[in-house]
Amino acid sequence: MTVNQESALGSAVETCKLLIGGKWQKSDATEYGDVFNPSTGEVIAKVPMGGDSDVDRAVKAAHKAFLEWREVPAVERARLMFRFKNLLEENFEEIARLVTREHGKTIPEARASVQRAIEVVEFSCGIPSLLTGESIENIARNVDCETIRHPIGVCAGIAPFNFPAMVPLWMYPIAITCGNTFVLKPSEKVPLTSIFIADLLTRAGAPEGVLNVVHGGKDCVNALLTHPQIKAISFVGSTQIAKYVYETGTKHGKRVQAAGGAKNHIIIMPDADMDSTVKALQASAFGCAGERCMAGSLAIPVGDAADKLMPQLIESTSKMTVGRTDIEGDKQPDMGPLITGEHLKRVHGLVETGVKEGAKAVVDGREKAQKEGFFFGPTILDQAKPDMTVVKEEIFGPVLSVVRTASIEEAIRIGEDCPYGNGAVIYTNSGRAAREFKHRFNAGMIGINVGVPAPMAWFPFTGWNASFFGDLHIQGKEGIQFYTQQKMTMTRWFEPSKEEFQDPIWKPGSN
Ligand code: NAD
Repeated sequence: MTVNQESALGSAVETCKLLIGGKWQKSDATEYGDVFNPSTGEVIAKVPMGGDSDVDRAVKAAHKAFLEWREVPAVERARLMFRFKNLLEENFEEIARLVTREHGKTIPEARASVQRAIEVVEFSCGIPSLLTGESIENIARNVDCETIRHPIGVCAGIAPFNFPAMVPLWMYPIAITCGNTFVLKPSEKVPLTSIFIADLLTRAGAPEGVLNVVHGGKDCVNALLTHPQIKAISFVGSTQIAKYVYETGTKHGKRVQAAGGAKNHIIIMPDADMDSTVKALQASAFGCAGERCMAGSLAIPVGDAADKLMPQLIESTSKMTVGRTDIEGDKQPDMGPLITGEHLKRVHGLVETGVKEGAKAVVDGREKAQKEGFFFGPTILDQAKPDMTVVKEEIFGPVLSVVRTASIEEAIRIGEDCPYGNGAVIYTNSGRAAREFKHRFNAGMIGINVGVPAPMAWFPFTGWNASFFGDLHIQGKEGIQFYTQQKMTMTRWFEPSKEEFQDPIWKPGSN
């Protein structure tokens, strides 16, 4: 069923609806959360904090749809993705504006994230060729063996706030094209983009119940993790919740892929090209106001690299503009607000802790606070030490801590002690340093003179350590493995009997 945006989102202060069985419906929830415009602090929507009964309705609809959807030829499922991609492109600007409205990213950042989301749909358009199995003849005389990929059933996705369009689309286009049906729970902080995009999938012709959307927080997540008809859970969010989701989901017999938080290290060698390193460091640390799981939040200059790097980095960071991103036209600040007032307080508190523990705020974002909106300026904490809170904890704000080291060995060792393992980057002109770093650094996504080494849709998002719980990562071929189960078939056809051999159709050499 096609639903127009008005019925999905409601009017002025919108009350978010659920998508169940192709229809936008009211939640059974009695409590509602606020969705803010982070640029102003205004409440722009109310989101139901649903639980068991919403989830059960959505899962039943998804299960009913699965019985039909799994029989739809893969090529037809892929055609749905082609139509979906067209609609995403037609609505590109509107989606980007919506991301900015509820998340606060600048418009160029929002556009880039929508582009990344579309790339997963493009990848999904080609899934039929990746769903092929394996086969071999004569594993024993006259016995052949083959594997075929089957969908697994109803899958669920639980998303964080920081990429309202991109992260949900890491999940359901792949799951659905593999023949599964899906229940999405977007972040309760940014549900509007997910609602808009889910409606586009419906308009693209997704049968009722193939994609369902529920809303809420902890209760809603618990209902998904324990529902007996859900076979797999994809989660992206903080490490503490990722671990909880992995443990609870697997205990209830589900496959789980759970991506967690991060502390991404950027090593700067003295031979690095400093102009481009400064630009890349700034983009990595302060892009999307530092609310990225691949943000470079710890700079580690080696030897005298700091002397060359820091004056330039401080000067250009001090000039960065911070302000409202929800404005008409394309005039945008360099950086937008943080997601909520609560998160702003947390980032503020962590910077204070850093300074108390002895780091030097050489650029101090606390000064950029504004009366309205959740603003915090880019911050550089120089002279940080490996045992400080700001070095060990994920801040998830525009804060770059700087630990100066004497050698690449010392820099790599700081990585060994880091509990996370998403991204790590080196800036250098030395092939030897780059190779040493690539081989030894304790993280799953490596950048060599690339500030944010986030893989494109056809590669897996390979977080390590406490940045990922599970066996098969999100995206790429691992994503397809996660959303399918293999069936192996062994076949033997007996040779014709002596009598049958007399039949001319079997007689060797007869024609
Ligand atoms: P979060 O963990 O607070 O929330 C993520 C999801 O979990 C949300 O849908 C939320 O409703 C739910 N949730 C929150 N508390 C819960 C609880 N107690 N029990 C059950 N469910 C709960 O994360 P966030 O603040 O929305 O997002 C930021 C985090 O996500 C950062 O740590 C960031 O590094 C991480 N992240 C990781 C990746 C990655 O690929 N590794 C990508 C994006 C974001």
